[in-house]
Amino acid sequence: MEGQVIARAQVNRPDLRWPFPPAMAERLTGRHVIRLGRRSKYLLADLEGGQTLLIHLGMSGRMTVSADPSDPGFAAGQLGHFVHHHSMPEKHDHVVLEMGNGARITFNDPRRFGMMDLIATDGIEGHRLLAGLGPEPLGNGFHAAGLLAAFNGRRAPVKAALLDQRIVAGLGNIYVCESLFRSGISPTRQAGRISPARIAVLVSAIRDVLAQAIEAGGSSLRDFRQAGGELGYFQHVFDVYGREGQPCHRDGCPGVIRRIVQSGRSSFFCPQCQR
Ligand SMILES: [Zn+2]
Repeated sequence: MEGQVIARAQVNRPDLRWPFPPAMAERLTGRHVIRLGRRSKYLLADLEGGQTLLIHLGMSGRMTVSADPSDPGFAAGQLGHFVHHHSMPEKHDHVVLEMGNGARITFNDPRRFGMMDLIATDGIEGHRLLAGLGPEPLGNGFHAAGLLAAFNGRRAPVKAALLDQRIVAGLGNIYVCESLFRSGISPTRQAGRISPARIAVLVSAIRDVLAQAIEAGGSSLRDFRQAGGELGYFQHVFDVYGREGQPCHRDGCPGVIRRIVQSGRSSFFCPQCQR
């Protein structure tokens, strides 16, 4: 998409979680995509003309990239090795973008908790959905001193604090569980009562878990697919998530993974080695 023009935009329904912006198809058609980016769990496509297409996949949304193999760009390998052949339109293909290079970007979302909006690129950080988001966990703005300050005085469980997007952005339930396991911290421990040394370990664990998940292609819970349609496979290497009743992976630990519910979400942890 980056550097390409949106030759045709097809919008098949008026809304997802929220209504699409007025005349979205017309406003996307003919625009070049200057840059693709991400903030927290939002995908951002900056368009010429000062607008940014803001996309969230919700619970079950996915974007797939496909191409017609007879397209000259496909034969020349300009469409990327991950591009798959066009498949038949599916029931939940809500938005389809035909790019100038022949790539087709399809947004499919059976449960429709996803969203798209067109907003001014200037001042995007002030948008109601992005304002107040904490630092990116893989960025320089996320560090032990900052997390220590954010946790200071908080009596909420560390599990809830890490899911709070104002403290750190884009960290979901699975990766919080895995990060807490790696750092040996119980999900029920009060955030404000974790020592600076352990917070430093936690910050490293969060970065490592996310980096490995990205390397592995993402977690494929329920409906998640990579851009080409394959399942991600990080789920196969979870240490605690979804492993209730199974033995702890830590060398020499006799613990058995437990599941508890915190703020309506499952927490998986080892009661022996997470304190
Ligand atoms: Zn253990």
